[in-house]
Amino acid sequence: MRIDIVTIFPEFFRGAFEYGIIRRAQVAELVDIKVHDLRRWTQDKHRQVDDRPFGGGDGMVLKPEPIFAAVEELTGASEREAYAEGTRVVLLSPQGRVFTQSLADELAKSAHVVLICGRYEGVDERVAEALVTDEISIGDYVLSGGEAASVVVVDAIVRLIPGALGNETSAVNESFSDGLLDYPHYTRPPEFRGMRVPDILLGGHHAEIERWRREQALKKTERNRPDLLDEKKL
Ligand code: SAM
Repeated sequence: MRIDIVTIFPEFFRGAFEYGIIRRAQVAELVDIKVHDLRRWTQDKHRQVDDRPFGGGDGMVLKPEPIFAAVEELTGASEREAYAEGTRVVLLSPQGRVFTQSLADELAKSAHVVLICGRYEGVDERVAEALVTDEISIGDYVLSGGEAASVVVVDAIVRLIPGALGNETSAVNESFSDGLLDYPHYTRPPEFRGMRVPDILLGGHHAEIERWRREQALKKTERNRPDLLDEKKL
């Protein structure tokens, strides 16, 4: 998989993908992540990427021309309809559809993902109208820029690329994979500050442990995310 990130702050990503699973996936050539400075696609001597909003109002808006030029070069396509199969061009935006594990799964199956990071008041709307295949929000809050959101999206999708996780089954057992939150995990010591690890986990009876974990996953989901239970047929 290839991932291209377009940003006005490429330095933001220094070190972001150099740890753990994401680093290993790059070393194993499962993914090639490149960060690009949007200013590379400006034409004027000031390398201007933003301008004042039409209609007035606060702040600046990222201009469409360099973003269109960047995506055209990175995808090799002059219009959205001509993107190669398996290409997703994503605008990070609080106005997008909310990023979930199933959307991460979908993106992890793509051959090429381009992530466009907004800043300031946002991005000229023609980018959403005519250039991107997806507008994605990482949650109902407003960040200062799309860079932190891109790191979240890259992390969530790279770990789903087959072979990226050391233990192939571990993504299957995680929160959201079957519509529930994960069950609680414990490690040594068996007692810590008066808190004991549940006896059932120390007993070695695998079928009972499985049943206990399922019950705990349900309880935790009911407590912290009842909305997930509404969506799931139990
Ligand atoms: N004026 C915009 C609004 O109210 O919807 C907010 C712009 S925000 C300050 C600047 C940039 O941060 C956005 O263009 C987007 O790229 C990014 N951003 C902010 N919140 C985000 C979120 N929840 N998910 C993804 N990207 C986000």
